[in-house]
Amino acid sequence: MKQALVIGAGPAGLMAAQELANAGLKVTIAEAKPSPARKLLMAGKSGLNLTKDEPKDEFIEAFGESANELRPMLEAFGPQNVKAWANWLDQSVFTGSSGRVFPEAMKASPLLREWLKRLQEQGVTLKTRWKWLGGNDFETPEGRVEFAPDVTVLACGGASWSRLGSDGKWAEHFADSVAPFKPANMGFEVSWSQHMTPHFGAPVKAVRLIAGEQEHLGEFVISQRGIEGSGVYAMSKALREGAELRLDLLPKTPLEEVEARLKKAGKQSLPNALKRLKIPAAKRALFFEFGKNGDGSTAEKLKNLPIKLDRPRPLDEAISVAGGLRFEALDDGLMLRNQPGVFAAGEMLDWEAPTGGYLITACLATGKWAGQHAAAWVNKT
Ligand SMILES: Cc1cc2nc3c(=O)[nH]c(=O)nc-3n(C[C@H](O)[C@H](O)[C@H](O)COP(=O)(O)OP(=O)(O)OC[C@H]3O[C@@H](n4cnc5c(N)ncnc54)[C@H](O)[C@@H]3O)c2cc1C
Repeated sequence: MKQALVIGAGPAGLMAAQELANAGLKVTIAEAKPSPARKLLMAGKSGLNLTKDEPKDEFIEAFGESANELRPMLEAFGPQNVKAWANWLDQSVFTGSSGRVFPEAMKASPLLREWLKRLQEQGVTLKTRWKWLGGNDFETPEGRVEFAPDVTVLACGGASWSRLGSDGKWAEHFADSVAPFKPANMGFEVSWSQHMTPHFGAPVKAVRLIAGEQEHLGEFVISQRGIEGSGVYAMSKALREGAELRLDLLPKTPLEEVEARLKKAGKQSLPNALKRLKIPAAKRALFFEFGKNGDGSTAEKLKNLPIKLDRPRPLDEAISVAGGLRFEALDDGLMLRNQPGVFAAGEMLDWEAPTGGYLITACLATGKWAGQHAAAWVNKT
């Protein structure tokens, strides 16, 4: 029986292992951490968003510059397949108002438990505390071990939340084939003045974020270090690339109406006038933090407030990463062109996407694709 090795037990690696086992191979998964899929479990802590229920083309376009490369994999395993896969693992799913799909349990642990059980039934062996060192070498509890399989799928993840396992150290084995890692879906640092302190932890809801050509109606959180949360993550690529962030604090009220309401407030002080407009405290604080400089009337600033960001939060804190193994270094089956028999999947690859279920779906889709192509390759040789 031919031997397949999967390195990394995140969603991409587990999916690859499932496909390799389905194809009749003897599969071993090597995982550096003492237990599998720690990032997937962490993702489940805030509600495991498995995929997004939206038309296929819209879904694929969310992957921006990598949409073309990922299209075949996402067409073969897209949102509907993710839902069916979760059902297969005894997880009922529901679709939230924004199209985001979650397991009813919300967390990842029941799904993972069932998945690991199925893999075990398929004869897959999971070796934990097995850290891949490059080549055929592993650091294991029994010391340094060599393992030379007939085919390998690498699924070592990106380079964020290293304490959960994806430390990006694998990149040193691939030199020029790796595009530099950059944070994706991350918060930004802001040098707040003292008066912002009472607002740390406060949500800023129903706000339009504007960065260059991109706009997003959503929410974010003011933190001690800056701003974070889904609205900021949605704009994070444009902001990382240098666009200025502007906020429309009253997205449902046209400029003329804001002007008229301010006029009606007459001679009241500005803080009182803003209160009368029913602008929540956190939004008022942002207005006073950033609205004092620059041109424009009060109404114009409420509708288009420039926010001074210092820098993105560090890579290790990002929800996901841009960069990784370049698609040029891989063939259509996700095999490394210069290492026949070695395939790669998941966040190791050079793509990025917003939050909203795109990340896990692409990890599962590329894991499945790499697993299937690895099985076809080894069964031919
Ligand atoms: C807080 C948080 C919330 C998230 N929420 C969501 C969400 O709701 N929806 C969504 O779509 N995405 C979410 N994500 C992103 C999602 O979890 C990741 O995109 C996904 O887990 C990546 O899958 P992967 O299999 O490619 O890599 P990983 O899940 O990172 O797994 C890689 C595995 O490889 C192992 N490994 C690394 N190097 C080695 C080595 N040298 N030897 C052996 N093993 C190694 C690691 O220990 C790890 O177990 C979230 C991420 C975070 C941090």
